[in-house]
Amino acid sequence: MQHRLLTIGRLLTIGRLLTIGRRAPKRGPARRRSALLVAVLTLWAPLQARADAPGLRLVVVDPGHGGANEGAPARFDPGRFEKHHTLAIAERLAAHLRAAGVSVVMTREEDRELSLKARIGLANRLAADVFVSVHLNATERAGPVGHETFFLAVSATDEAARRLVAFENAEPTAVAHAAGAGLPEADAVQDILLDLTRQRAHGDAGRLAALIQDRMTAASPFPNRGVRQAPFFVLMGAAMPAVVCEIGFINHPREGRFVVSPEGQIAIARALADGVLDFGRLVLAPRQVHEVSHVPTP
Ligand SMILES: [Zn+2]
Repeated sequence: MQHRLLTIGRLLTIGRLLTIGRRAPKRGPARRRSALLVAVLTLWAPLQARADAPGLRLVVVDPGHGGANEGAPARFDPGRFEKHHTLAIAERLAAHLRAAGVSVVMTREEDRELSLKARIGLANRLAADVFVSVHLNATERAGPVGHETFFLAVSATDEAARRLVAFENAEPTAVAHAAGAGLPEADAVQDILLDLTRQRAHGDAGRLAALIQDRMTAASPFPNRGVRQAPFFVLMGAAMPAVVCEIGFINHPREGRFVVSPEGQIAIARALADGVLDFGRLVLAPRQVHEVSHVPTP
């Protein structure tokens, strides 16, 4: 909504500048043309940047784990953990999205502990269009390989997803209780509206997961494990499409090297960004055009 108003505001400003140009005959046509050129160039730059990322205003990127919550150990980067690599990939992802004209807020920008509730709470408070949580997978015994994208479900689709979600949902109790989810205390009507928002967001999350998974499959030399569903705490209460990307197994003999390498992380971050941008263009942008066309004219 804010983004639409911003765009309308910009167009009104262009209109006003054009009017000023017309109402200033003393300036002469050359002067008017240059004033117009400056106005168009000034206003065109942000419009053009946004043209790369239709439908998207703000994305919240969540690097999994942090602080004492280290995640899985990086088998091929001794002494470092999942938390270090999720941050590195998230930073690259954020840079790609920003370059396409999207505002990005990261849930953490350094190695610090943050509750799962606080992460999605931040996205809700900011009314983000999309929430992407970045993780690396691991198993007790190395073997499984590939990337998968999750969205929320009440129960896990299978035993592997159940084990994964138990690992990802684990966090120190003190941290879990320290932060609120940021959802407003709502009356009954607001509750219903929020439920409808979440229902639509949940349906969209499936599309978002599929588009990210497509891009990951094109970018990763490892198997596509598909779109799956599980009860991730970090996705609960999301008022926007929200996904957990398990971008590869950090303890697999080959994939474990790929996901901690700069080349691997560059390819993965690009794929995640492209999936999010696809979602904005294919799902959100057409809906916004439709909604704008139904605004009554005065
Ligand atoms: Zn994780």
